[in-house]
Amino acid sequence: MLTTTKEDISIIYEQPFLELVSKARSIHQQNFVDDIELCQLVSVKTGGCPEDCSYCSQSNSNQSEIKVNPLLPLDEVEKVVLEAKTKGVKRVCMGAGYKTPNTSALSRVNEYIGVIKKHGLESCATLGSLTMDQANELKAAGLDYYNHNIDTSPEYYSQVITTRTFQDRVDTLTNVGIAGIKVCCGGILGLGESRADRVSFIHALTCLPTAPDSIPINMLVKVPGTKLANVEDLDKFELVRVIATVRILFPKTRIRLSAGRLELSELEQSMCFMSGANSIFYGEKLLTTDNNHQDSDKNLISKLGINANG
Ligand code: SF4
Repeated sequence: MLTTTKEDISIIYEQPFLELVSKARSIHQQNFVDDIELCQLVSVKTGGCPEDCSYCSQSNSNQSEIKVNPLLPLDEVEKVVLEAKTKGVKRVCMGAGYKTPNTSALSRVNEYIGVIKKHGLESCATLGSLTMDQANELKAAGLDYYNHNIDTSPEYYSQVITTRTFQDRVDTLTNVGIAGIKVCCGGILGLGESRADRVSFIHALTCLPTAPDSIPINMLVKVPGTKLANVEDLDKFELVRVIATVRILFPKTRIRLSAGRLELSELEQSMCFMSGANSIFYGEKLLTTDNNHQDSDKNLISKLGINANG
């Protein structure tokens, strides 16, 4: 990618809304047929996380009520994989609330990867920070994607998380890229960040050591008991502006309209697809929060007249 400054990105982001969407749509059409990639999330280990991400119900620092679960048995993960396959899902994404996985957790995840690959689906994991050795081990087990979000701008990062730095995130992403695993990296909007932070977040995505193959854009789901439970709502025009700007800067990357879709009407979601989003989490549960009912998703995809999983 050509070097793009924050000022360049700001000019793209701040242009009149309809011009921005129109430009993003035209770039999207040059690079993709209209389709939606379906991914399934499964929380393989829930809660008890030592990190203090202020949006997350799994953090030990937040007071949310969630069911803490140790690593799932292999047959439970296989059940999820088989159901996902029947529904036409392309990738299974495993999430575990760790600062970094220990040796036995990593071995178990390697077994999960084996099961996903055995059934012919793509595998993705999000397990916290990884050393070079850990990334190599996951690559050897057949992992296709590693998700590690930068969450927000480097400037706003310490307002949201204090138990790690923005650079820690980039270091893991460097290891993932060197190991030859595809990078899935995006962020969350509506954390109380400014528009300048959103521009800076997009700029940080363009500066990653390995360009992401997949960019999840989440809208904060306010969970009671978390520090951001009462933050001001995001103006949804900002969500569309972020998606459109990311599409213009990453013409060939899948953009996943991730958490927060339940807060969007069908037309608002359609506006996001119009602006470049072409991937969703399919299934009623995200890691700990609810997701859209799959019948509603099927219905919306049919109303749009597009294919799932291109
Ligand atoms: S977002 Fe991930 S790292 Fe942060 S507290 Fe939640 S589970 Fe832990």
